[in-house]
Amino acid sequence: MSTATPQKFEFQAEIKQLLDIVIHSLYTEKEIFVRELVSNASDALEKFRHLQLTEKDVADDSLALEINLTTDDTAKTLTLQDAGLGMTRAELIENLGTIAHSGSKAFLKALSEGGQKNSNLIGQFGVGFYSAFMVAKTVKVYSRSWKKDEPAHVWTSDGSGSYEVEEVSDQQRGTKIVIELKDDCGEFATESRIKEILERYSAFVSFPVNLNGKHINTVEALWLRSKNEITDEQYTAFYKFQSHAYDEPRLRLHFSADAPLQINALLFVPKDNTEKFGMARLEPSVSLYCRKVLIDAKPKDLLPEWLRFMKGVVDSEDLPLNISRETMQDRALIEKLNKVITKRFIKFLSEEAKNRADAYNEFYAEFGVFLKEGAALDYTHKDEIVKLLRFESSLTEKGKTTSLTDYVSRMGAEQKEIYFLLGPSRSAIEAGPYLEGFKARNLEVLFCYEAVDEYVMSNVREFEGKKLIAADHADVKLTDAPKPPAAEGDLSDDDAKALAEWLKTTLGDRVESVKPSDRLVDSPALAVNADKFMSPQMRRMMKAMNKDGADAPVKVNLEINPRHAVIKHLAATKTSSPEKAALIAEQILDNSLISAGLFEDPSKMVARLYKLLETV
Ligand code: ADP
Ligand code: MG
Repeated sequence: MSTATPQKFEFQAEIKQLLDIVIHSLYTEKEIFVRELVSNASDALEKFRHLQLTEKDVADDSLALEINLTTDDTAKTLTLQDAGLGMTRAELIENLGTIAHSGSKAFLKALSEGGQKNSNLIGQFGVGFYSAFMVAKTVKVYSRSWKKDEPAHVWTSDGSGSYEVEEVSDQQRGTKIVIELKDDCGEFATESRIKEILERYSAFVSFPVNLNGKHINTVEALWLRSKNEITDEQYTAFYKFQSHAYDEPRLRLHFSADAPLQINALLFVPKDNTEKFGMARLEPSVSLYCRKVLIDAKPKDLLPEWLRFMKGVVDSEDLPLNISRETMQDRALIEKLNKVITKRFIKFLSEEAKNRADAYNEFYAEFGVFLKEGAALDYTHKDEIVKLLRFESSLTEKGKTTSLTDYVSRMGAEQKEIYFLLGPSRSAIEAGPYLEGFKARNLEVLFCYEAVDEYVMSNVREFEGKKLIAADHADVKLTDAPKPPAAEGDLSDDDAKALAEWLKTTLGDRVESVKPSDRLVDSPALAVNADKFMSPQMRRMMKAMNKDGADAPVKVNLEINPRHAVIKHLAATKTSSPEKAALIAEQILDNSLISAGLFEDPSKMVARLYKLLETV
């Protein structure tokens, strides 16, 4: 049925409701209507290209498959034209007057599920064609179907409840949408504003997008192409464009998956960790696309927090369809995407670690701190992330690292626990008294230099069933102590015990206990923190932050080495010159507190040292 006079139609009730919301949602980002109309044009072109494979007899078959936008700043109009498959009269009525199609239907469903007049919802769903009414006084849709004998029509509406359809001549195949802008929406008739919007949302649309005759979308959606067609230079250029970056990416992962979700992803690790330089905390910036059209440039939950250093693109065709089935609250689809991508990325890193160890170690030196955060906080992926962590150890050379997996493979049959020591540097840990007992027994100790390590180790707690234990902890029990050979003048067991008791009495409240120790080889004494709940590192941190509890006096267990000359000398002095012995005892305790990082008040020590120096 065709008619030359305009015919008036009422919108379907749901569309009226939808339009009402769209028009009155003043707070939404109005600009998204451009994205919606361009993606409709792109869909129409895609469908036409598909049709051409089977249909030989199509209208205007020499037209370029392009999208053309024109702004008219004087008339305050924006026009979008595509050479897609177009619509017949019946299709105009069906597609633009009823709720048969996906985007808007999903939107209404989400609204009915509690979304209310949430302006975010419009941004999420786009609400397709109707979003034009956020900015339009009137919308005219000129369309001519690809079917040769069909006349062209214009569909006109101001969005207030009804629309008109009228036959027109002089319309080429495809659709031309003319938006007469509302008075306060004049910005959308300026070239610079539309250019900015197109670059933001439609940079990767497959068909040429021209604005006032100038080609806008010159970058290809690389993530949808197959890997072996893409050069390193293309990848880098894409990274720089998409991430607004100036560096070269350090690592990249390009993959696609079909199950459980359809995903094409192109992910990059930048060269530098800018958080390390004290710059602002990174924001998630892997963008979410659906078939080359941007859905969200910075989706919050697409990746876990600890992957916030990643850049790139995730594109899923499942997005709009599935989103319509989910309520906005549970976000099950995004969660699913998150899981698939995170898993895949962790696998990628472990392959890198295996196949390109040097590059991995460089990556780790820069971004390891994020992996540590993940190991400590991402419960879902913790076990896999822990395998990616690297530490120097008592068995590695300076600057070389080991994984926990390798550590475990070197453990002897009797060793049940994984040991680590915290300290500012390798030399500091090696100079301290804690390592020697482990070295003497050939037990490997991991070295942790970073402030977060303690937190990470205590959160990770165990690896492959083996507890992670701080080697300077009072609870560490070293088995099968190989007794050092007895030497001339060593204290007997009884003498050592007596000395320990004397020390306890002399040092009083400053020590929780004193006992002869097997773990000491080269040092006279060591202090282990008696406070189970506060390690030296944590104590320092709390002090720095002026937290309660940091001021409580330090309580330590003191261990003495009965084979050491200083201790032997002390045992002798205790009878010959008790007063001097007391000074030496205090000094030994202070020295071991210094090694333990627990020494706090040097004022008494200086006076005492002068006293001691008088006696030499
Ligand atoms: P969706 O794109 O999710 O289907 P829209 O509201 O964006 O929903 O569009 C509604 C329908 O109108 C589309 O499904 C399509 O059939 C039709 N349509 C919109 N724009 C065009 C166009 N430029 N060319 C041809 N058909 C179009
Ligand atoms: Mg659409």
